[in-house]
Amino acid sequence: MDFTLSKEQIDIQKAAREFALGEFSEKAQEFDRNETFDPQIWKKACDLGFVGVFIDEAYGGAGLGLLEHCLITEEFWAVDAGMGNAVLTTTFGAELLGLFGTEEQKKKYLPPLVEGKAVIGTAITEPDAGSDVTCAVTSAEKDDDEYVINGSKMFITNGTRANYLNVFCLTDPDNPDRHKRHSFFIVETDRPGFEATKIHGKLGIRANDTAEISFSNVRIPASNLIGQEGNGFKELMNFFNMTRLHICAQAVGIARAALEESIAHIKKRHQFGAPLASFQVNQFKVAEMATMIRAARNLYYEAAWLTDNGKMDHALTAMAKWFSGQIAVKCADEALQMHGGYGYIDEYKVQRIYRDAKIVEIYEGTKEIEKLIVARSLLRG
Ligand SMILES: Cc1cc2nc3c(=O)[nH]c(=O)nc-3n(C[C@H](O)[C@H](O)[C@H](O)COP(=O)(O)OP(=O)(O)OC[C@H]3O[C@@H](n4cnc5c(N)ncnc54)[C@H](O)[C@@H]3O)c2cc1C
Repeated sequence: MDFTLSKEQIDIQKAAREFALGEFSEKAQEFDRNETFDPQIWKKACDLGFVGVFIDEAYGGAGLGLLEHCLITEEFWAVDAGMGNAVLTTTFGAELLGLFGTEEQKKKYLPPLVEGKAVIGTAITEPDAGSDVTCAVTSAEKDDDEYVINGSKMFITNGTRANYLNVFCLTDPDNPDRHKRHSFFIVETDRPGFEATKIHGKLGIRANDTAEISFSNVRIPASNLIGQEGNGFKELMNFFNMTRLHICAQAVGIARAALEESIAHIKKRHQFGAPLASFQVNQFKVAEMATMIRAARNLYYEAAWLTDNGKMDHALTAMAKWFSGQIAVKCADEALQMHGGYGYIDEYKVQRIYRDAKIVEIYEGTKEIEKLIVARSLLRG
C-alpha cells in the first residue's frame, strides 16, 4: 500500500503551513483571550484557495478530495486550532449540499463559500437532542409552497456568522421509524424570526463563534428542502462520514502542535544540570506522542482515501475519529506536563493546546458514540 502524498498534495500542505504560520501565529493568543478573530484572514485564505478545496469545480471549488481538505486542516490546526476552526468551518455543510442538494441549490450556495462571500453552518444539536439526534424537535411544517420552522438549536458553529445554515428539522413526528422523521433545509439567516446568540466562555477554540440559535415562525420556500423529505437522518450519517474526517485532521494537527512545543521546551529547559530532553522519561513521552500521531494520521489518510475513491468505510472513519481525538488529548496532556508550571499559564502556547484539544473528543460524535459505531459493525449479524 502506498501512503506517499503526490507532489500537488505536498505543495498544498507546505503552502497551508506557511499561510498559517504567517497569519495565525502572532494574533492567536489575543484572539483566544478575546473570543474573536480577524475575518480578513478568512478572506485571504479564500483568495489563496485554501477554503472549500473539496467543492466541485462546477461550483467554484478546486474539485479536490477530502484528503486535500484534511491536509490543509491538519496544517492549520498544527499552528492554531481556534483560527483553523474559524477559517475552515466556514464550509461546514457544503458537503451535505454537494451530496444531496439540487443543482439550483449548489449553484446558489456553494460558490460564495469559496469566494469568501458567505459562511455556512449545520445545525443539528438541540438542548435535549445531542448524541441522540433523533430526539430533535425543531419542526418544519408545510404551508402551501413554504415550510415554517420553529424551535432552537444549541452549540452551532458559525451560528452568528453564517449567511445560511443546514437545519435538521422534524417533519414527520408520527412516523413509527424514528430514522424517517427528520429532513434537512437550507435556511438563510436574514429571514424574519431567526435569532443567534453567541456562547461565551468556551474551554477552547475560542477564536471562532459557537451560538445558540432559534427559529420563530421562520418561513422558507419549499425549494429549500435538501434531499428528500424524511431522509434527513440518512443524509446526516453520510454527511458525518465526510466531516468526521476533518475532525481527525484537526486532532492530528493539534497533537503535532503539542509534540512540537514539547520538543522545543525540553531541549531548552535545564534541571538537575541537564536539559529535560536528556531524561529518558521525556524521551519516552515524545517517542510515544510521535508514534500515536503517525498511527492516527495513517488511520484518517486511509479513511479519507477510501471515501474519495467511492469506498467509504463507516467503521474505519469512526475508528479514526475516536482514536485521533484520544491521542490529541493525551499528547496535549503530556505536553503540558513536560512544561511543568509554565504550561499552566496562558503565556505559553501549550496551555491553549491543552484547552483546544478536548473539543475533538466531543463534537460531530463523541468518542463514546464513535466506539458504538465500531462495535455495531463488529457485532452485527
Ligand atoms: C464548540 C462546539 C461546537 C459545536 N458545533 C456544532 C455544530 O456546528 N452543529 C451541531 O449541530 N452541533 C454542534 N456541537 C454539538 C456537539 O456535536 C454535541 O455537543 C455532541 O454531539 C454531544 O452532544 P451533547 O453535548 O448533547 O452530549 P450528550 O449527548 O448529552 O452526551 C453526554 C455524554 O454522554 C455520552 N453518551 C450519550 N449517549 C451515550 C450512549 N448511548 N452510550 C454511551 N455514552 C453516551 C456522550 O458520549 C457524552 O460523553 C458543537 C459543540 C461544541 C462544544
